[in-house]
Amino acid sequence: MKWTLSKSRILSFLQCPKRLYLEVHHRNLMKYSASSEIAFRIGNEVGEVAQKVLMPGGVLIEYERGLRKAIETTHKYLNGLFDSTLYEATLQAQNIQVRADLLAKKKDFINVIEVKSSTNVKDLYVIDCAIQYWVMDEAGFTPSKISLAYINNQFVYQGGGDYNGLFKIFDLSADISEHVEQVPGWVEQANKTIAGKLPNIEIGEHCNKPYTCPFIEHCWKDVPVIKYPVTKFPGLKKSKSIELANAGYEDARDIPDGLLGNEILQARLNAYRTGKQVIPRELCNKLNQLKFPRYYLDFETIGFAVPRWSGTRPYEQLPFQWSCHAEDKSMGISHIEFLDTSGNPPMRALSEALIDTVGNFGPIVVYTTFEKTVLCKLQERFPELADQLQGIIDRLFDLYQPIKEHYFHRDLQGGYSIKNVLPTVAPEINYAELVEVQDGMMAQQAYLEIINEETLPERKQSLVESLSKYCEMDTLAMVKLVQNLSNTDE
Ligand code: SF4
Repeated sequence: MKWTLSKSRILSFLQCPKRLYLEVHHRNLMKYSASSEIAFRIGNEVGEVAQKVLMPGGVLIEYERGLRKAIETTHKYLNGLFDSTLYEATLQAQNIQVRADLLAKKKDFINVIEVKSSTNVKDLYVIDCAIQYWVMDEAGFTPSKISLAYINNQFVYQGGGDYNGLFKIFDLSADISEHVEQVPGWVEQANKTIAGKLPNIEIGEHCNKPYTCPFIEHCWKDVPVIKYPVTKFPGLKKSKSIELANAGYEDARDIPDGLLGNEILQARLNAYRTGKQVIPRELCNKLNQLKFPRYYLDFETIGFAVPRWSGTRPYEQLPFQWSCHAEDKSMGISHIEFLDTSGNPPMRALSEALIDTVGNFGPIVVYTTFEKTVLCKLQERFPELADQLQGIIDRLFDLYQPIKEHYFHRDLQGGYSIKNVLPTVAPEINYAELVEVQDGMMAQQAYLEIINEETLPERKQSLVESLSKYCEMDTLAMVKLVQNLSNTDE
């Protein structure tokens, strides 16, 4: 056989044989999303900490000199007389290779730990460990115990690089047996798939389950797009939308008048046909009731899998930036922002700056409940600021709710995120024009690069500017939404 299998390739096969085939024969068609790349980076970081915390002092089995050398070195240690701790121990059976994250050999006892960056044990991990076990067993090194290390999200980092307690360990030795028996069958089928022709597999839910397939762009490119699918008709019950789709009304514009049974839905149906906005009087009234001065607030947050700041937990969303537009009837609109790029915990200074900026009066417009959650967490962190932060919380006005309840435009495609709504209300504000940072995920990436000591000053400066522009656009977007949705033709 010209190819090798790995755990991830067998898992690809289990998701979709076509995925495996394409991974082996047409890798150039793979497109990983930004979130996959972030997950990969997090995985590496978590893996390195796990080595130090769970099995310190081990030997890393290098891969740079090739698979054969890595296997040879692993055999040398596992066959040796001495106890050993290995990172990335590499073994092969038939044409399947595996690398064990952490392995400790004490006399004849082989303890294997697979490290995951998630905060719970997923079914898929059991299969993952079953494959690992089977290959090691076939290679002559049967694990005596195989466990999963995953992130303990209740762990609070105390500083000083002490990560004892960051991981929970779950012994999977007993859970894998049923799956271990299936592995030879999977291996046989996977090899047949690779040796055969491109499997004829339709797209479907499996393209995103359990992971987003990197061939989606390729496989879905020829799928005819229904521009306004009835299944995304806002406010329509799922059962009704399925009933209509089954009756042949796949495009919402084709639904006959009178079938939807209420005025709001009928108005939306009309808007599907005309392409006009629906801005009901209730929405305008709610927005016009907002007193001046008005503030528009947006946070950017970061969640470290491995906490960096003392007193914080894994994946806790910690704010490092805010943008605020202030709108005064007489003075117009001004912009204020906070962005800490020092790499030190920014939460205290961020809270104080916000308290100073928004004063004591006027509604603070946000989009969704995210800002409220962040503020409540800041209250817990800084009890001495709790009252002032509560004052801010009490003034929050969640713009998302009335927009979702009342506003409609056919190009929303069923989604009411600010990035869905904005192009239909204020198309002149375009996130695509931003360089480097266009969404929250990219903002987190940019922040991590900014606080990385190895980032060059020019690069840092450019990222800071991009991050500022992005966050500013989020609050400017809210200003425009309120302005443009405060009037109706009704
Ligand atoms: S996009 Fe869907 S059909 Fe295509 S390879 Fe991936 S899982 Fe299979």
